[in-house]
Amino acid sequence: MTTEHKAETLGFETEAKQLLHLMIHSLYSNKEIFLRELISNASDAADKLRFEALSNSDLLKQDAELSVKIDFDKEKKAITITDNGIGMSREEVISNLGTIAKSGTAQFLESLTGDQRKDSQLIGQFGVGFYSAFIVAETVEVRTRRAGEPADSATFWRSNGESEYTIENIKKADRGTSVTLLLKEDEAEFAESYRLKSIVKRYADHLSLPVMLLKDTDTATEKSTDKADPQTPEYEAVNDAKALWTRSRSEIKKEEYIDFYKLACHDFEDPLKWSHNKVEGKLEYTSLLYLPGRAPFDLWNRDAAKGLKLYVQRVFIMDDAEQFLPLYLRFIKGVVDSNDISLNVSREILQKDPAVDSMRSALTKRCLDMLSKLRKKDSEKYQAFWDQFGQVLKEGPGEDFANREKVAGLLQFSTTQSEGVSQDQGLEDYVSRMSDEQNKIYFLVSDSLNSARTSPHLEIFRKKSIEVILMYDRIDEWLMGYLQEFDGKQFQDITRGELDLGGLEDVEEKELQEKSEKALEGLVDRIKTVLDDRVKEVRVTHRLTDSAACLAIGEEDIGAQMRKIMEASGQAVPESKPNFEVNPKHGLIEKLNNEQDEERFEDLVEIIFGQASLAEGGHLQEPGKFSERLNKVLMKIE
Ligand code: ADP
Repeated sequence: MTTEHKAETLGFETEAKQLLHLMIHSLYSNKEIFLRELISNASDAADKLRFEALSNSDLLKQDAELSVKIDFDKEKKAITITDNGIGMSREEVISNLGTIAKSGTAQFLESLTGDQRKDSQLIGQFGVGFYSAFIVAETVEVRTRRAGEPADSATFWRSNGESEYTIENIKKADRGTSVTLLLKEDEAEFAESYRLKSIVKRYADHLSLPVMLLKDTDTATEKSTDKADPQTPEYEAVNDAKALWTRSRSEIKKEEYIDFYKLACHDFEDPLKWSHNKVEGKLEYTSLLYLPGRAPFDLWNRDAAKGLKLYVQRVFIMDDAEQFLPLYLRFIKGVVDSNDISLNVSREILQKDPAVDSMRSALTKRCLDMLSKLRKKDSEKYQAFWDQFGQVLKEGPGEDFANREKVAGLLQFSTTQSEGVSQDQGLEDYVSRMSDEQNKIYFLVSDSLNSARTSPHLEIFRKKSIEVILMYDRIDEWLMGYLQEFDGKQFQDITRGELDLGGLEDVEEKELQEKSEKALEGLVDRIKTVLDDRVKEVRVTHRLTDSAACLAIGEEDIGAQMRKIMEASGQAVPESKPNFEVNPKHGLIEKLNNEQDEERFEDLVEIIFGQASLAEGGHLQEPGKFSERLNKVLMKIE
């Protein structure tokens, strides 16, 4: 006998106890989902077998009817879920069931604080699948044999979910997997026929795979017990076994869509919205797209699963088919079932298939329309979506030129008008509030909402009641590089270039401005001499009402936010200097203009310049010197 046949005890790869504890705690009010998870795995196993059988029909020769069987034993407090799907080899058992959580989950758990860890919502962020069996089971046993492998190469796995499992080679007559749950003392109710039936009905009615439940001998009719061979148990089909997406929309209830989502997409939470469509014509395909309610914890991990489940003529082909949606819609889940793609397709072929290209653009439109409908119909739900996935959607204008305007219409922002309001505002809302004289969409990028709100650049806009969009996400400056206009109106960064309010300024104001610019020409020159090559230009400004001065960057220059990101990633940042703008109506500037003492003049200019840098979220080049000058001036106050 080879060593393989010996029983071995191995440890789980990550913090099994911690994860199971969290799971059991989180799901105690919804224990029954363990069955959904196990049936879902059985269904995936059947899909995989059907797919492998396309190139190796021998695999299906015996036992061609794929199904899941559920046995139960009230006395023994046991449930067994058996499938005749692909099964697992010993190595697969170790890698699939020996790693209790997917990569990253352990680190994720460690990063949580005590309160967050208790949050029952959390479990939705990472599927626990198979391990949900331990919510109700004290011990779980798996017997499995990989399709195409001989009967004596099957594997037995057993664990009580603590920190170890045993694995052993066994004989198994048929291919596939059976999972036996030895229930905890107080979970015996799950080994009851009516209970199992109602759970299967609820969660797996629209699975294309038949789910067969052992006939309850207590309640079975006399006729069937008479005829039945006591050796062969009888089963009854419990579910409808017709893939949900193949049915017509009008037949499907809301709950059915929700339950199917949870089953097929391995999510614990309800989706926010879905879109189900059948396309006929040159290309024929059906899609069922879901907008999840919560971002997975690994949304930002480049290697995280994304994409749709691909079926070809109802045969499962692959999970995570990324080719059907752009990256900025990677949060969308669902199914696409095509009649045009070859059954022998691979990821490489998908990439080059023109049919996939046109499906991709149509599916992208569907997703954007789904979001747009949600935004119009239910702003609260839309805000929930936005909080979870908004940052991903902001990648859209950069990635998808053709849909730039559409994606822009889905973006949400804070604005000067939305202070104290929890709802963000869309560009459409902003444009609808614009006055006839306003022809640009004004925005400001800063590194936090607070610093955006207190920016001196907003002063004139506040005074004139012109709404300004406040941006403070890391991605915002990059995003605005791809958005030139919306609804025919240009975007204008209010911290860039010279302030031009166009029709919002009146003639009188303009005259006054020109007058003060003339009067302060000398002062501007004197300041420029002090600041020298630290600034591009010194100008008299009209964007300020309360502050003495501010910095404005050039139209083409890199903004402060992008500069910080580039510096942090070690990239060379092209040099650019700000313009220093002074407020002619401010007492300090008047004082500066009258200052005859050159040393004092210099101190004041440096202090005002330093303050303007700070207000921009920048830092002082010589903080020590700044304080020294400030103290010198303060000391002179009587
Ligand atoms: P998930 O299903 O989300 O991948 P699970 O923890 O439920 O996570 O399962 C881990 C892996 O174990 C599955 O991806 C699959 O490869 C394998 N597996 C689980 N159940 C079965 C089964 N009944 N038949 C074959 N493989 C299975």
